[in-house]
Amino acid sequence: NMKKKKLIAGNWKMNGGIAANDALVRAVVAGMGADAGCQVAVCAPAPYLAQVQMLRHGSALELGAQDVSRHEQGAYTGEVSAAMLKEFGVRFAIVGHSERRQYHGESDALVADKAKAALAHGITPIVCVGETLAEREAGQTEAVVKRQLAAVIHANGHCISEIAVAYEPVWAIGTGRTATPGQAQQVHAVLRAQLQAATAHSDRVAILYGGSMNAANAASLLAQPDIDGGLIGGASLKAADFLQIIAAAR
Ligand code: PEP
Repeated sequence: NMKKKKLIAGNWKMNGGIAANDALVRAVVAGMGADAGCQVAVCAPAPYLAQVQMLRHGSALELGAQDVSRHEQGAYTGEVSAAMLKEFGVRFAIVGHSERRQYHGESDALVADKAKAALAHGITPIVCVGETLAEREAGQTEAVVKRQLAAVIHANGHCISEIAVAYEPVWAIGTGRTATPGQAQQVHAVLRAQLQAATAHSDRVAILYGGSMNAANAASLLAQPDIDGGLIGGASLKAADFLQIIAAAR
């Protein structure tokens, strides 16, 4: 069976600490075994990347960051460059998470530049798109996610086949309110078509669902034809829950 392996990425957000990370990563690595049957990553806060890199060493667990600077280097206090992330074994970087769009004013253009910076260093940007509740209720869901993805496509040309996308409806993030598999699939199909129009290699792009994915709902979401994995917030902080989602992605 040549089915593409799914990608399960944990987004710890601003959670964790040295002791908690140690216990969590050890439990995830032990539970995954040598072959999890899918790709697994955890996106840790920047100060802990070195710690997680050491803990994951020799395992199938991949390392991700939660953000990346649009700049290469220089006078950008507080920013972390893609080259720095690369030195710590980072394979993935979330860009344009709705929390950064909402609380840090990140624009579509900035998110596109961040994706470009990651790609330039061989890091796969996980580009987050998604509508707010107000936008969904106004019938703007497709227009919003297409606008967000179009900016990234426009800025990245033929490299676009090297990104991953996460569809994360804002109303489903951290709310316990999940998109139904049908609702998610509908948007994923729109994103797939947009990628197909942009590159002949769109089959390389994993389109993840994110928003209150958990052990109970993961299987039905991951069974949808255009859902290639998940971006997991809250449920990635508990090894047992995260491992159940990994198991559902086999
Ligand atoms: C996220 O923030 O990427 C996310 C999906 O969070 P949660 O799973 O907690 O809704």
